[in-house]
Amino acid sequence: MTVIQLNDNDLFKTQSYVAGQWLAGNATFEVNDPANGERIAEVSEVTSAQVATAIAAAVSAQKSWAKLTADQRARYLMTWYQLILQHQDDLAMLMTREQGKPLAEAKAEIQYGATFVQWFAEQAKRVYGETLPNPALDRRISVIKQPVGVVACITPWNFPSSMITRKAAPALAAGCAIIVKPASETPLSALVLAELADRAGIPKGVFNIVVGTDAKAIGEQLTTHPDIAKFSFTGSTHVGKQLLAQCASTVKRVSLELGGNAPFIVFDDADLEAAVDGAIASKFRNSGQTCVCANRFLVQQSILDEFVARLTTKVQSLTLGNGLDSASQLGPMINRKALDDVHQLVTNAQQAGAKVVCGGKKPESQSSNYYPATLVTHVSNTMSIAQEEIFGPVATVIPFKTEAEAIAMANDTRFGLAAYFYSRDIGRCFRVMEALEYGMVGINAGVISNPHAPFGGVKESGIGREGAAVGIDEYLEIKYACFGDI
Ligand code: ADP
Repeated sequence: MTVIQLNDNDLFKTQSYVAGQWLAGNATFEVNDPANGERIAEVSEVTSAQVATAIAAAVSAQKSWAKLTADQRARYLMTWYQLILQHQDDLAMLMTREQGKPLAEAKAEIQYGATFVQWFAEQAKRVYGETLPNPALDRRISVIKQPVGVVACITPWNFPSSMITRKAAPALAAGCAIIVKPASETPLSALVLAELADRAGIPKGVFNIVVGTDAKAIGEQLTTHPDIAKFSFTGSTHVGKQLLAQCASTVKRVSLELGGNAPFIVFDDADLEAAVDGAIASKFRNSGQTCVCANRFLVQQSILDEFVARLTTKVQSLTLGNGLDSASQLGPMINRKALDDVHQLVTNAQQAGAKVVCGGKKPESQSSNYYPATLVTHVSNTMSIAQEEIFGPVATVIPFKTEAEAIAMANDTRFGLAAYFYSRDIGRCFRVMEALEYGMVGINAGVISNPHAPFGGVKESGIGREGAAVGIDEYLEIKYACFGDI
């Protein structure tokens, strides 16, 4: 009996979905609600034999899936999309219970994730080849695109639904079959997508989800198996590097969406109110647990006091609480370790001379995962809080004097995912946008992700792009055909 009440209780799944079957394993693991520690599910651990079955099923199913017309695949995806939207309240409820984010944010993620299914259903029909000018009179050159084959992916707990659809939708649209290993903190949001894919009639073996806590072993199987052609990962830079190395043994195509260290620059010509609103949206969404969250607020000296005053008022007004309570704007962190890591960064910064303006206190209860919205000033770009990804509800403010100084500080990191800046000077907007060594730049915008745009990073933030027309290319091979003797 589930402790989560859904409109459709058949959406509550606790076993891996392999070759169209729900499979029990030899052991189970617990899923706990980060808001109160309540055990909300016992989920079957996938066995390595079941992972092998998933790979074999995907190999076999992919061949017939690729032979469908793009239009036929698109129709399956559109049915899946509609089912996700139809059940969005239940999907959001599952997500809030296992991940902690406020219900409104969970619902927004379900809708956002679904738009990738819709987008790539449309893009399936636009996988165009090319005819190139011939190099000799008796030759003709054409280029076609074909699915890479079987795809494996590993996804994180911070966006437990959309990080799956962002990979599965383009893979399926391209004619690939996929095996997904979601984070063990949030398996329910993954498995419900499998249930809906099943209801959409997506053929057995095309979409598989394997759930388990031994990420290392499952990851090893998925990154070294010769029948897997492509590997896609969203998670930490540290783990991404290991998986990239593992993929080398079979020369897989690899896409990586890794960590970030987003600068959020506020110039003295900015619309300050808009910048503060953008700062709140960018920093505190999902309690700061996103890879594109503003990590460092770089603020021009002349507006520093004014910006900090306005930001403090807004940070202090954020309501912390259980995501099921509609008043909550900030939910719990995913677990106690995540909270302790964030608090350690704040403590280190304080010891190095930074000042905590508000928040910054651990909850009294040892088992609580609630960390208050925190603002830290007098930070320098060399402190660990400015060099590491905070991944929590902590805003740091670093002053600067000139545009050149701001750009240099913004780029002084190994990460290169998202950057943001606020300015009303059009010349500066172009200069700064072009100078930032990041894959994505928000200009007078604090939240920028959508399926129309190519999401991804440079430097140690990743390889490849998700979304946009190029998103499907990650799952396609290019074949050049040379016709001779014409
Ligand atoms: P996060 O900090 O978001 O938890 P991780 O990189 O640790 O980032 O986790 C992202 C995903 O990678 C999760 O599904 C997790 O289970 C998986 N993972 C973690 N460590 C490994 C590993 N050594 N091999 C394969 N997958 C891993």
